[in-house]
This record gives sequence, structure tokens and C-alpha cells, in this order.
Amino acid sequence: MKNIDLETLTIVEARRALDAREYSAVDLTDAYLAEIEKRDQSLHAYLEVWTEGAKADALRADAMIASGDIHPLTGIPIAVKDNILIDGCVASSASKILEHYTAVYDATVIAKLKEQGVVFLGRTNMDEFALGGSTENSAYGPTHNPHDESRVPGGTSGGSAAAVAGNLALAALGSDTGGSIRQPAAFCGVVGLKPTYGNVSRYGLMAAASSLDQIGPITKSIADARIVYDAIKGYDSHDSTSLPDVSNTFATTKRIGVPRSFLEKGIDTDVLASFEKTIQDLVSAGYEIVDVELPNLQYSLAVYYIINPAEVSTNLARYDGVRYGTRVDAPSIGEIYEQSRAQGFGPETRRRILTGTFVLSAGYSDAHYRKARALRELIRKDFVDAFKDVDAIALPTTPTPAFTLGSHTTDPVAMYLEDIFTVPVNLAGVPAISIPTDTVERDGKQLPIGFQLIAAHRNENILFDIGSTLEKSK
Ligand code: GLN
Repeated sequence: MKNIDLETLTIVEARRALDAREYSAVDLTDAYLAEIEKRDQSLHAYLEVWTEGAKADALRADAMIASGDIHPLTGIPIAVKDNILIDGCVASSASKILEHYTAVYDATVIAKLKEQGVVFLGRTNMDEFALGGSTENSAYGPTHNPHDESRVPGGTSGGSAAAVAGNLALAALGSDTGGSIRQPAAFCGVVGLKPTYGNVSRYGLMAAASSLDQIGPITKSIADARIVYDAIKGYDSHDSTSLPDVSNTFATTKRIGVPRSFLEKGIDTDVLASFEKTIQDLVSAGYEIVDVELPNLQYSLAVYYIINPAEVSTNLARYDGVRYGTRVDAPSIGEIYEQSRAQGFGPETRRRILTGTFVLSAGYSDAHYRKARALRELIRKDFVDAFKDVDAIALPTTPTPAFTLGSHTTDPVAMYLEDIFTVPVNLAGVPAISIPTDTVERDGKQLPIGFQLIAAHRNENILFDIGSTLEKSK
């Protein structure tokens, strides 16, 4: 087997080496499969590794390369979150209720990646139905953080982030409903992009909260994030919220806003100090930093934890034991529904269904759901107003580094509070990226933290632009 240094490898470098015939897609894939064999016993980033499928993909990619049919991702081995459909493969959303569910079509993002000749290594662990922040809500056991295996990788795309950080995939797809790409990317020290709502098709993504969900890349560098994003974005007639294609041009970005009054919320002092240090790096790189006010941001968590359960309770109604996945046999149809759902869903999923059903119920929807919708509009408007004055907004990705396994599992509110800096972005539908800028020390270990940049609707380019500057200044 070829000796390939997976630790420092990026898509950009692998592309160069594959095209220069320094190694083949089969060599590269074998290197990842060997690493998975070695390390995934303890990390548990994958729920399933498609060894044979990946080798077949790699052979096909090598044939494409030989014939000159080369795309940016031809022969690149990636991992896919377990809520994105690949025709003929199991996709379970890490739930018991979908344990043996086999997808019957490709998600649009998968179809696009197949056209490029990507190698699919396997499906990654996640919080059940993308509900959580630590991957501990998986029905198949947690994933461990590659930087400290006693800690969580973040969630819900924890398997995807751990796979990339642990050198078990060159890139991965995740989904982000309230932070599930950015937060695990931050905890694992990799790059995570949540695209603009509507820029990447949701067709074939199992719905959690449809007005918030978005698929995006987890990678080792900004350049890699851009390559994967470019490969999966674009209008799709199968997704009614898909946005028409536009060419994204912008003037040089120079002004970055910091919502100072929002920053002091329960954030660890060293995480805040590191954020300020990165802000200084941006000043040194020639950016102007200004204060911005987003007065309604303080309501984001409350609003999110009404809208998310409301939509989740509606979306998960389809798992009734009859149409998909696991069925518990019982004498009547009512009992089949009841028992299949009781046995199929884990505790957090049940909590969201109950909360969601409550906030949507007659008599309570005016007090909760409608108010949350109205506030969501104000939060969206806060961003629109702020972006009249600045090109990007900076926030930490998370208030803390990765926490220890089990430390938040009995306290759902503590888990929800970790989302304070990420959920506003999904409520507003704007794009954001988490960049690994620094580490902080906990129990003698250096743990990564993320710096979050947010841009106006459809301005992903600004995120890549400032992100590359930060990456170079490191
Ligand atoms: N932690 C948030 C939640 O539990 C976000 C999840 C996500 O982005 N899928 O809902």
C-alpha cells in the first residue's frame, strides 16, 4: 500500500497527486479504509463502512481519471451523514425506527457527487434525527472526539466531523438545522459550512425541521469547503425551497461586525479571549471591526426551541411503523403506531415530538408557535439591517470547547444552551462557517475551538474570502 500522509492531506493536495498519478484513487481509498480499520473501533465515527462499494467507486474514479474525465472531486473519499439518502444503502438517521431502511433514490447532493466520481466510504453517526448537540442521542452509541476520546465530538453531525478530524475521510457531508455542522466542526478542529437556506437541495435529506435544515461540507480547509460546496449547490426542481442559480460577485470585503452585547452570554473566559485574539488578527489583516446591534438575537434560543420541535413533530409523524422502517406487530393499527413509535424513537426525539405537538395544539399555538414565528421574522430583519453596514458578522461558534461524554445528557437545557451562537443563523437562513482558529486547555489537553463568520443571504464567497485570510494568518 502507498504511504500517504492522511494527517496533512487536503482535497486540493489529493487532486494534484491523483492527477500527477503519484497514487491512484484505489491507493487513496485503501489508505482511508486501513485507517478506519485501525481507529474507528474507538472513535465510532461510522455506523457502516462500505468497503466493497468504496473500492468499486475508486476503480471507476481511476477509469475516469485515465480517460481525462476529471472533476474537482473525482476519486476523493468522503463520508456521508446517516440522514442523506444513497440509492440502495441503509440510511437510518441513527434511529432504531429506521434501522433497516434502505434508500430507494439518491439525494440530489449524492447524484451530483456521483457525477464527479466521488468515493463514498460509509455513513456516519449522528444524533437521532439530527436532534442534539453531542451525538450521544444516536441509538447506536456515541462517537468520541479524536482530540480527547473522553469528550463528545459535538453534534448532530458528530460522526462526520470526527471522521474528517480523525483522518477517516478526506471530507464529509453533514446537515445543519441549528448548528449541527458548525458546532461539531468547532469541537473537532475542522472547517464546517452551513450554506444559505435554499442554496443546496434538501431533496433526499431526511427532514428534521424543514425551514431550518441545510446540507453542507465538513473539511480540513476553507479551499476544500469551497470545492465541496461548489459541487453540491445549485437549483433543484425537486426541492420547492431551492433558490435559482445566481453568480455570486461581491466587492472586496473590509468591514466585519461584532454583536458585543450578545457575546457575554455564558461563554468560557478563555473562549472569549481567543475570539478577541482572532478579531485582532483580522484587524492586522486590514479589516475594520465595528460593533453591530442585533437586538432580537437574545430570543433566538427560545424561538428555535419552539419552531424546531413544531416542525420535527410534524415531519416525524410519517414514521408510523407502516410506511417506513421498523414495525412492532400488534392487534390494531392504533397499537402498531403506538408501539412502533414508543420502541423506535429515543428520549430526545420523543421530547421534541411532545413539545412540538404542544406548541402547535389549538389553544396554545397563538401563545407559543405564532409568537415564535413573529420573533423569527424580527431576527431575520436584524440580520438584513446589520448587513447594510457590514460585510460579515463574527461570533464564536460555541461558548465552550467539547464537553465530556455524559456531562450534559441528564440536562437537556444545558445541551440546548450550547447552541446559543449557531441557531440565529438558521432562523435567518443566512450562510455561516466555523473555522478552527485556536485551542484551549482542559484537563491537560488542547481542545479546538471555532471562530464563526456569518454573511448575508447567498454571500458564501465572503465567508471563503475572510476564512482564507484567517487560515493564512494562523
Ligand atoms: N442542537 C440543535 C438541536 O438539537 C441543532 C441540531 C441540528 O442542527 N440538527 O436542535
